[in-house]
Amino acid sequence: VGGTKISGGVVTRDGQIIARAQAATPREDGASVVAAISQLIDTLREAHPLVEAIGVGAAGMVDWPSGHIRWAPNNSYRRLPLRAVLAETTGLPTVVDNDANVAAWAETRVGAGAGHRHVVVVTVGTGVGAGVVIDNILLRGHTGIAAEVGHIQVDTNTSAHCGCGKTGCLEAMASGTALGRAAQAAAAADPTGTLAKLAGGASNITGETVTNAATTGDPTARCLFDQLGYWLGIGIANLVTLFDPELVILTGGLLTTGDLLLTPTRASYHHTVFAPSHRTLPPLLPAHLGTDAGLIGAGLLALDTLHSHHPALHATPTP
Ligand SMILES: [Zn+2]
Repeated sequence: VGGTKISGGVVTRDGQIIARAQAATPREDGASVVAAISQLIDTLREAHPLVEAIGVGAAGMVDWPSGHIRWAPNNSYRRLPLRAVLAETTGLPTVVDNDANVAAWAETRVGAGAGHRHVVVVTVGTGVGAGVVIDNILLRGHTGIAAEVGHIQVDTNTSAHCGCGKTGCLEAMASGTALGRAAQAAAAADPTGTLAKLAGGASNITGETVTNAATTGDPTARCLFDQLGYWLGIGIANLVTLFDPELVILTGGLLTTGDLLLTPTRASYHHTVFAPSHRTLPPLLPAHLGTDAGLIGAGLLALDTLHSHHPALHATPTP
């Protein structure tokens, strides 16, 4: 469940998607989102009656294991007991987790991290998120909202605002949104430059404009990617310093730019991490599953939890 669309699918135990369904995310309230999810589930179950569990990855702060969604800056739902509602209406064991967590689970189980037990997965798109897998277990913290890496403070001297209401968060410095904002400022300062020309004016510039300009070799756009990579590398270095993973996987919409993003990010990460000359640095690798990671991870998390007889499937919602 994202800010703009809900992707559904039937996922097998080895992480294959054998059916898909999709709907726009309703903007009204939590009840309309639940109705849209329920309709997708019904459609998929009609064609696949052997479905044995429901898994949901939802944007926002999601309590684990209750699957109670507290708040999401880009969605209309608030205080939504999604796991309890879906378990009751479907009659199936259900898990609900944060979207970055389920994507991280998919990459660790069957993606770029397959075969590893200590993996950090960082998502860079409109926002910045992360999932941390330690000894093959997703790190969730006391209530389920651990590893909100997009909101760790990386710059205390900036006025760059974040969707969470603070300034200087990693997401405010190193997301697609941050890239678009920095590009608008750069184009306003140089109205005859490539960026302004490509977009037809500074105010029309998006992250995509910068990507297109950088791909054609525009030095201003490349400089913006270097800045983004600088901040992202600091965030990744802090995660590696904290969690000592075997590898770090980078995923999300901005990853389509490949080395434009990876090269400056790696340089900044290697420079910032604790004791780089005294350790083997975990490699920073692109993800394998692309935009399907959330869907696959939600399904695998439901099946893995079901077959481990985890108490999550019997949890009562928090009030
Ligand atoms: Zn923030």
